[in-house]
Amino acid sequence: MNDIFNLEGKTALITGASSGLGKHFAKTLAGAGASVILSARRIENLEALKAEIGSQASCIPLDVTSVESIDNLVKEIRNTTGSLDILVNNAGVSDPQRFKDLTEESWNYVLETNLNGAFRMAKAVTDIFLEDKKGGSIINIASILGIRVGLNLTSYAAAKAGLVQLTKSMALELARSNIRVNAIAPGYILTEINDDFFGTEEGQSYIKSIPMRRLGLESELDGILLLLASDASSFMTGSIIPVDGGHLVNPL
Ligand code: NAD
Repeated sequence: MNDIFNLEGKTALITGASSGLGKHFAKTLAGAGASVILSARRIENLEALKAEIGSQASCIPLDVTSVESIDNLVKEIRNTTGSLDILVNNAGVSDPQRFKDLTEESWNYVLETNLNGAFRMAKAVTDIFLEDKKGGSIINIASILGIRVGLNLTSYAAAKAGLVQLTKSMALELARSNIRVNAIAPGYILTEINDDFFGTEEGQSYIKSIPMRRLGLESELDGILLLLASDASSFMTGSIIPVDGGHLVNPL
């Protein structure tokens, strides 16, 4: 039964693999047998992760805000592994600001990475899948903030809501090319993106609004990641799947 999650013979590209969830996703996919291409800006972190994973891993520098950087990544993939089967579109940033203080610069920073960057990566990988005529799986890392809202997170919530709609639109148009596009909408998982906040008293008290009254562990995303990456989800596309300790169903 476990074989349906097997990724041997598949190649997965993970963006934002230099820390947090992306780093964990790379290890999980490699553990299921995939070759993994680690990409992010901090190449020294990627090299360290590559040393941890072993010969199944390779690294390519990537800034999702730069078209040139994405073009270079595609060229590098074509010159090395050749093709791809899975994209984990994970790179993301956050810049919490009250709406009344939200600057154009902060808004653009978050939208440029979390929505435009994710779009560019999804487009570049779709082009590879279409050229190779073999289909593939795109997994966008959205957020429960793409479905509901939270204080001081206007730009993040707007970008993730855009990513949710990007996921559904792509799923609709690419289904007949056997390209599946789904999103994971994690609740709060402790990583670099939020450790400052959850270290505060306010952060600790916020955790009480999560029905399970705790933060998620990176490993608690493994099941959904392997499902969406593998043929076990061969009839799934356009799905947005929350993994959030019940956060989306907390009482109004
Ligand atoms: P993180 O800060 O540890 O990881 C983000 C990664 O994205 C880092 O590796 C960073 O270097 C990379 N990145 C940022 N800008 C980039 C760029 N321009 N080009 C390439 N890489 C870039 O945080 P994380 O929690 O691991 O976040 C990973 C993803 O999960 C993000 O999309 C985030 O929005 C999403 N997410 C996280 C949580 C959570 O609770 N941690 C919840 C929901 C969604």
